[in-house]
Amino acid sequence: MKEKHCQSCGMPMNTEDAVYGANADGSKSEDYCEHCFTNGKFPNEDCTMEQMIEFCIPFVVEANPSMNEAAARECLQEFIPTLKRWRVK
Ligand SMILES: [Zn+2]
Repeated sequence: MKEKHCQSCGMPMNTEDAVYGANADGSKSEDYCEHCFTNGKFPNEDCTMEQMIEFCIPFVVEANPSMNEAAARECLQEFIPTLKRWRVK
């Protein structure tokens, strides 16, 4: 089983309630969520990988109550750099 994640913020995206971003031609992005990708662009284009990690920490803590902030940061520092958006740089 392969879980799908937004390739920018790492948000889990499953097929039913996934909120995929839109390409410039209006089709759905295969890779990014609507928060990260609209109209073929990243609205948060200036965001660095570090900022993305800090931004995601509260969501990871919320989704994983056993995790504290430090553990979430550690986990994201491993995970976020593997995503497509950050690999291409
Ligand atoms: Zn995203």
